[in-house]
Amino acid sequence: MGKLLSVVVSVYNEEPALREFYEETGNVLNALPAPWDYELLFVNDGSRDKSLSILRELAAVDGHVKVVNFSRNFGHEAAMIAGIDYADGDGIICMDADLQHPPEYIPEIIKKLEEGYEVISMVRTRNKTAGMIKNITSAAFYKVINYMSDVKFQANASDFFAMSRDAADVLRNNYREKVRFLRGYVQSIGFEKTTIEYEARPRFAGESKYSLKSLFKFSINTILCFSDLPLKLGIYSGCAVALFGLAVMIYTIWTWFQYGTPSGYATIVVLISFMFAMLFVIVGIIGEYIAILFAELKDRPIYIVKNTENLEKKEAR
Ligand code: UDP
Ligand code: MG
Repeated sequence: MGKLLSVVVSVYNEEPALREFYEETGNVLNALPAPWDYELLFVNDGSRDKSLSILRELAAVDGHVKVVNFSRNFGHEAAMIAGIDYADGDGIICMDADLQHPPEYIPEIIKKLEEGYEVISMVRTRNKTAGMIKNITSAAFYKVINYMSDVKFQANASDFFAMSRDAADVLRNNYREKVRFLRGYVQSIGFEKTTIEYEARPRFAGESKYSLKSLFKFSINTILCFSDLPLKLGIYSGCAVALFGLAVMIYTIWTWFQYGTPSGYATIVVLISFMFAMLFVIVGIIGEYIAILFAELKDRPIYIVKNTENLEKKEAR
């Protein structure tokens, strides 16, 4: 019985890299061992350059190429989710269109799938392409999130990963959160897991679409969706401040007996500023969680599909 491999590729303004990506990945996929056939599923995430017309041209001459075209830009994660939704394979691989995820690892992934592994994370050994700031912040991020969350994340896991159909079904049916961390879900659903190390290549052409600012936002969201520790900050700091207040009260009473009048102004200013700062931080954190609840409540779609190529129309979620 034949097996199908789905390669999901998110595309946002990748015009200069697409043909090269298709050539290189196509060569690897055409040489796959016996039972494996493949589909190359591109998700066009609202590109504003000629990416879409290149994809359409490829789809017209090659039946392996399938295209999901978004109505606008929904972001990298939304594109991967759509790709997983539309993918039909027994194994699914997500990768970037900029050739930073080397296609020559695909046979190795297939081997792991055949050995029965269901979730395969590709771990970067070195990232020469990212700057020092990005590498340091990334390391710090994994330290913080692993400390705060019950799920333990593999540091340097990338958006390059593979999974079986069963694992993908879990993502398709049960992980439809609006604020999310796809890589985290992939690592937290269980199943037989393994990792493969790879060396990231430099981006083939064009430039990275993630700014430091968007990465920061992304990190905050991840912490909020995988940990409720910030929410408990209110209780912890409340207890701490109560103890502190008790100490100040005892001290005040003592000075009263000692010197007659308790000293006042400076203490009050310091205390009030301190208390209010604390209070606003906590209210702010609660606000962040409410924003997530609100997004969840509105239940807007994660992505909107305008049209597809070489795919039967599935219902957009
Ligand atoms: N991407 C996307 N939508 C976006 C931003 C990026 O689909 O809004 C795609 C992009 O085309 C690429 C992948 O996500 O295939 C990773 O993006 P990028 O290479 O810019 O990120 P980096 O590798 O620098 O983390
Ligand atoms: Mg990249």
